[in-house]
Amino acid sequence: MNVKDYYKILGVQENATAQQIKSAYRNLAKKYHPDANPDNKQAEETFKAVSEAYDVLGSPGKKAKYDQMRKYGFNSGGFNPGDFDFGSFHRAGRTRGPGGFTFEGFDVFGDIGQIFSQFFGGAGPFQETRRKPQTGADLHVEVQIPFEKALHGGNVDLKVRKNDICPDCEGGGAKPGSTVKSCPTCHGRGTAMGAQSLFGASRQPCPSCYGKGQIIENPCNRCSGKGIAPVRKTYSIRIPAGVGDGEQIRLKGEGQKDPAGLPPGNLYIKVKVKSHRFFKRHNRDIHCEVEISDSQASQGTQIKIKTVHGDQVKLKIPPGTADGTVLRIPRMGIDKDGGRGDQLVKVVISKTRKQAG
Ligand SMILES: [Zn+2]
Ligand SMILES: [Zn+2]
Repeated sequence: MNVKDYYKILGVQENATAQQIKSAYRNLAKKYHPDANPDNKQAEETFKAVSEAYDVLGSPGKKAKYDQMRKYGFNSGGFNPGDFDFGSFHRAGRTRGPGGFTFEGFDVFGDIGQIFSQFFGGAGPFQETRRKPQTGADLHVEVQIPFEKALHGGNVDLKVRKNDICPDCEGGGAKPGSTVKSCPTCHGRGTAMGAQSLFGASRQPCPSCYGKGQIIENPCNRCSGKGIAPVRKTYSIRIPAGVGDGEQIRLKGEGQKDPAGLPPGNLYIKVKVKSHRFFKRHNRDIHCEVEISDSQASQGTQIKIKTVHGDQVKLKIPPGTADGTVLRIPRMGIDKDGGRGDQLVKVVISKTRKQAG
């Protein structure tokens, strides 16, 4: 797979003038035009190739970029414009490339960096960064909170170990008091020199200096010069009232600090609610059990029962209540999503128990 030689197709020299290119195209187009060659597949193909060649060489802007491509030897990388439907590039809207790569409509060579990332083998840095959101890694932690705190909300302190700006060198990466020099790989620019950057399309950070443009000769001990180190950070997390076991709280931008300078990811805190020996939760309702004696069940009684809202309430147990009956105390459940649940009391009749309360 080589770059199509548009000069060869038009039969002109590389230093041909615009006028020479134009007249070469006219002669060939006339000669191979389908009207002049009915049912001639070969002529039709040649006519298409000639048209494509002139589309590029006849336009000063496209020609300049095409010449640049040839000069820098991209044919060795397998660039083959013939693989593309050139017409589709001119259409507005999204176009799907052959490798499943999505790009906005653009001029044939207008966004050459994107074309190359497509051609140069699939998993290049451009595809990588375009497909994923451009942030550092997310961080997932768990916090365990008491049952009551989940009901009423409040703050909890959470210690998180994560990558952050190194506190010793304040992110500079140099041992305090030492000097730094310009990065020889990127000459201090901080961006990588690659094929793409010849066309100004590269925003890839230099791998030698992580995009800083500097090389640290005496790196910071703590972070080995990366400027980022594992640190412990304490967050005061606001727990919303009514939070359920397993729910997540997101702290935007508090994830891992990225060594390449991307914005940090998010911190996700999974809330684990400790169980309670008396109360159980089910959505907005509170469930509990109470034991009464046989005689209390048959004659009926009134007992005091704990609620999650602090006060005890009186619960009337009607005469003849069967074992396992569930009684409802309205609006003594959990406040959540603009409403409050109930407390559901399961009556357990104990043979041994004399009194309950
Ligand atoms: Zn450091
Ligand atoms: Zn560099």
